[in-house]
Amino acid sequence: MIKIDSLTKEFSIGEKKLTAVNDLSLEIQSGEIFGIIGYSGAGKSTFIRLLNRLETPSSGSVTIGDKQITTLSKKDLRNARQDIGMIFQHFNLLWSRTVQDNIAFPLEIAGVGKSERQKRVQELVDLVGLTGREKAYPSQLSGGQKQRVGIARALANRPNVLLCDEATSALDPETTNSILDLLVSINKKLGLTIVMITHEMHVIRKICDRVAVMEKGSIVEQGDVLEVFSHPKMPVTKKFVKQVM
Ligand code: ATP
Ligand code: MG
Repeated sequence: MIKIDSLTKEFSIGEKKLTAVNDLSLEIQSGEIFGIIGYSGAGKSTFIRLLNRLETPSSGSVTIGDKQITTLSKKDLRNARQDIGMIFQHFNLLWSRTVQDNIAFPLEIAGVGKSERQKRVQELVDLVGLTGREKAYPSQLSGGQKQRVGIARALANRPNVLLCDEATSALDPETTNSILDLLVSINKKLGLTIVMITHEMHVIRKICDRVAVMEKGSIVEQGDVLEVFSHPKMPVTKKFVKQVM
């Protein structure tokens, strides 16, 4: 389970303070696909980056499984992060490395030996449907294929949690669907928890079990996807629902 307690992140911009995440509490169950939807600037990316401490919170806590992420030492954080994969809108691949070497990278960092690494990379390449493209460079791949590399790399150390920040926003609708199908199959096969941040309602509709709607750093509404979108309560949720009708 992921437990988020009164999480707040303030940024200082000169003299001013901007509260990007505001006293946010939330529980995400193990094995579910949980969506967080909100318009640009709602604080979605800041929130998801707080989950693996790419951002340090101003106050509040994040607990993943039995680890309180917010108070871990640097060394313990490094270990804990192996249990939390992340994928990004613009893939964040290493452009000078091939597909297989991108996927091997987190294994190298984790100190996995060469032969085991090669075996694991091949498993991952097969899992994400890139068999035969092991030696290609990212520049030789389509957007969907690049995200497949991103997913394989994120799964390399067998995490229990996968964080997705607008993972399909740079892709066309058909490719988006194929990536979402892949995420669902991974969720089923590996039982991992997926946290999906997006501003696209159809992404939530297609794969999420539950959804939280974020506005100005806070969650204003949450529940089962069908429930929230068929009976939206807050104006921001109504706006999302209206958009796709
Ligand atoms: P988008 O949909 O455009 O990606 P978002 O919901 O992910 O938006 P965030 O990127 O989390 O929103 O930003 C939330 C607020 O925090 C914005 O007002 C943004 O300008 C501000 N912010 C984010 N990162 C920083 C930073 N490093 N320094 C200062 N302000 C920041
Ligand atoms: Mg964002």
